[in-house]
Amino acid sequence: MAPYGYINKCTEDGRKYVAIKEPEASNIIWAFKQVAKGHLPTAIVRVEMNKRDGRNISLNAFMEALKNVAYCGKLLLRANGKEEEKIVEGKHEPLISEELFMKVQNVLRRKGTKDLRLPGGKAINDERYPLRGILLCPTCGNNLTASGSKGRKKHYYYYHCSSACGFRHNSDLVNELFESELSKYEFRPGIRKILNTIILQNFKSVSSTIKDERSIITNRINALNERISKARDMFLSDKIDEDDFRDIKNRYKVELDELKEKLGLIKKSPESEIETKLSLALDAVINVADRYRNANLIDKRAIVGSIFPEKLTFDGTSFRTAKMNSFAKSIFLIKKELGGKKKRGSKFEKS
Ligand SMILES: [Zn+2]
Repeated sequence: MAPYGYINKCTEDGRKYVAIKEPEASNIIWAFKQVAKGHLPTAIVRVEMNKRDGRNISLNAFMEALKNVAYCGKLLLRANGKEEEKIVEGKHEPLISEELFMKVQNVLRRKGTKDLRLPGGKAINDERYPLRGILLCPTCGNNLTASGSKGRKKHYYYYHCSSACGFRHNSDLVNELFESELSKYEFRPGIRKILNTIILQNFKSVSSTIKDERSIITNRINALNERISKARDMFLSDKIDEDDFRDIKNRYKVELDELKEKLGLIKKSPESEIETKLSLALDAVINVADRYRNANLIDKRAIVGSIFPEKLTFDGTSFRTAKMNSFAKSIFLIKKELGGKKKRGSKFEKS
């Protein structure tokens, strides 16, 4: 069987080859990137991946997949008699780079899959530091890690640089700052309807070309059916004989079948699907700050990952990131446009 994300195919002259299969291919690419990032435990990456469209995968199969050289375009030749096991170039298209593949191997080597551990082996069981390993140092760009120290009277907790650069910041304060950062992306239930309309309109303008193609084909099918039915009328009223009728019918039938097949290949009206997906996505962002506040450690990290696909640089007062989830970004921009800015980010009394 072809690995997850690939499918075995056959050319017309009978040659076998391996082709890419979506959406599984995108899923496994996403999973490799997530594991390499070390944001979430590997087992959780699988659970998150299974929530996406496409075939689900067991934990065993997932762990095997992450070690499969096929994904970076190679082929593993098992040892046989004289020959040792070796890796050669495959003929199929790689889904990921060799570099990403090696990165994931390093991550897997360094941690067990049973425990919730980050690459490097650090357990992420400390509820106090949900952002450990997600933040980057503004001074030197290394990961910020976290730890506590005991002062004369009480404990102090910090996110601090993993290198010797000395950057550190009170972790309670950073956590609180981050919660207000998240609230920039959420919205009041009242504007849900407006957001829904705006996003759907944007989508419809993009998808209208697909709709055009569908309607051209549908019109042609209707026209052909009409001709056949006219011919049938003529045959029934003895204006043409049976052979002529059959000729006409067969001639149109070939084209009809082709058109119907074409129509099936054009994605089925994406609108009905997009409405459900949009609704789910809106639900996910609507109270994101609250959901984050009340989530457990793992869910917290999953929420961060869903909005910020890459690490965040914390500069002591605010968060910067190279890349943002485009959906969250649209919401941020639309909110700004609507003028629904509430000054939430300015309450910094220590709690
Ligand atoms: Zn640093």
